Amino acid sequence: MNRTGSTLTHLEGALSGETYSADELMNLDPADNRPLLARYDLDRAARTLTAESLEKRRTGGLWHWAELLPVRDQDHIVHLGEGDTPLLAQRRLGDALGVPHLFTKAEGLNPTGSFKARGMSAAVSRAVELGASAFTAPSAGNAGGALAAYGAAAGAEVTVLMPVDVSPANRDEVLATGGRLILVEGLISDCGKISVELAPRIGAFDVSTLKEPYRVEGKKTMGFELVEQFGWRLPDVIVYPTGGGTGLVGMWKAFAELEAIGLIGPERPQMVSVQAKGCAPIVRAFERGERFAEPWEGADTRASGIRVPSAVGDFLILDALRESGGTAVAVDEGSIGEMQTFAGRMGVGYVSPESAAALAAVPELRDRGEVGPGDEVVVFDCGIGQKYPPPSGLSEPPVVDPSDYDVDEIAERIMASEG
Ligand SMILES: *Cc1c(COP(=O)(O)O)cnc(C)c1O
Repeated sequence: MNRTGSTLTHLEGALSGETYSADELMNLDPADNRPLLARYDLDRAARTLTAESLEKRRTGGLWHWAELLPVRDQDHIVHLGEGDTPLLAQRRLGDALGVPHLFTKAEGLNPTGSFKARGMSAAVSRAVELGASAFTAPSAGNAGGALAAYGAAAGAEVTVLMPVDVSPANRDEVLATGGRLILVEGLISDCGKISVELAPRIGAFDVSTLKEPYRVEGKKTMGFELVEQFGWRLPDVIVYPTGGGTGLVGMWKAFAELEAIGLIGPERPQMVSVQAKGCAPIVRAFERGERFAEPWEGADTRASGIRVPSAVGDFLILDALRESGGTAVAVDEGSIGEMQTFAGRMGVGYVSPESAAALAAVPELRDRGEVGPGDEVVVFDCGIGQKYPPPSGLSEPPVVDPSDYDVDEIAERIMASEG
C-alpha cells in the first residue's frame, strides 16, 4: 500500500457522541440517524502537517492535506483537479457594496463547475477504498454531475435522482459522463428519500449530503485553503449560500482541527448562512433560537443548490452560526437575478444564482450592522452560472448579415446606446 499519511482514527456521532470504526462503509449514526463525523489523531497530524511542509506540497489539489483526509492508500484517490481555488479580491464590487475588503473564493473553477467536486472526490475515493463499486445520490444539479464524473473516474456505477425541473445542463452532464439518471416529480428531499431506499436494492452506497461522513471532509478543505491564503489567519466574515450546509459545517470543523494542530489560534470568523426567501429553513430556525430546523413547505427558488427544505445536519449549521457570532440571512428572489448580472458587470464572472444570493446578502449585512466597512468578508462563489437558465432581463443581441451590412450603422447604434 502506498500510504497517504492519513491519521483517520474513528467516526463519531455528531449528536450522540458514540464512536464507530472508520474502516467500514457507514451512512448515518445508527444511534439517532444523524450525521457521523470523521476523527483524526491530531497529535500525529501536527508532527507532519506544518506550514513549512505544506509549502513543498504543491500538487494534488485538496489532497495535499492528506493527514486530515480519510483516504489511507494513495492509489484510491480519485483526483480530477479539485481544490486549490483562488481567493480573489473583488475591489469594484466591494466598493459598490460598501465592503472594500470583499473577496470571493472561486469555487466554479473546480471540475464540474462547482465545489461539489471537493465533496464527491473525498466521498467516492474513501467509499471505493472501503469496497463500494456503485453509488446513488439525490441532487439539485451540481452534486449529480460531480458524482457522475468521479464515479466514472473510479470505474463505479452511478445513479442520480434529480427533481424533474432540473436545468438541462445538469441532466446532460450526468448522462454524458455515463451516469444513470432518474427524474422525480418533487424536490431534492423526495429524491433523497428514494435514493436511500434504492441504494441497498441495487448494491450501491448512498452519498447524500451529510448522510455519509466523507463529503464534508472534502469540503472542509475550503477552510484549510482560506486559512493558508490569508497567511495562517482568518477573515472577519465568511458568507456561505446554504443548502445542506456541508461546506459551512466542514469549514467549522476544519478550523477546530487547525487549532488543535497549532496552525491557528482560537479566533474564528463570523459564519453567515444565506438562503433564498422561498426556502429558508435555517434562517427561520436561527431567528427562532431553535437548534433543529423544521422542514420548509413549498420550497421555491431559482437558486436550486440552496432549494433544500430540510437538512440532516441542521444543528451542526446552527451551532456553527451561533458559536461564531454569525447570523443567517434570507434574500429576495429578485435580488438574486439582479446580483447575477451586477456581479458579472463588476468583474466577478458569470456566477451561479447561489453565488449571487450570497453576494446579495452583503449589503443587507452592512445595513444591519453585522458587517463593518473595515471587515474582510469572504463570499463563496460556489459555482458557475453557465449550468443554469439565464437571469431575466438579458438583452437580445442584434444579428448581422456578413454579406450585407453597414458598419457605420452598427457603430452608430453602439455609440447611441452608450450615450
Ligand atoms: C450544493 C450547492 C450549494 C449548497 O452547498 P451546501 O454545502 O450543500 O450547503 C450552494 N451553491 C451551489 C452552486 C451548490 O451546488
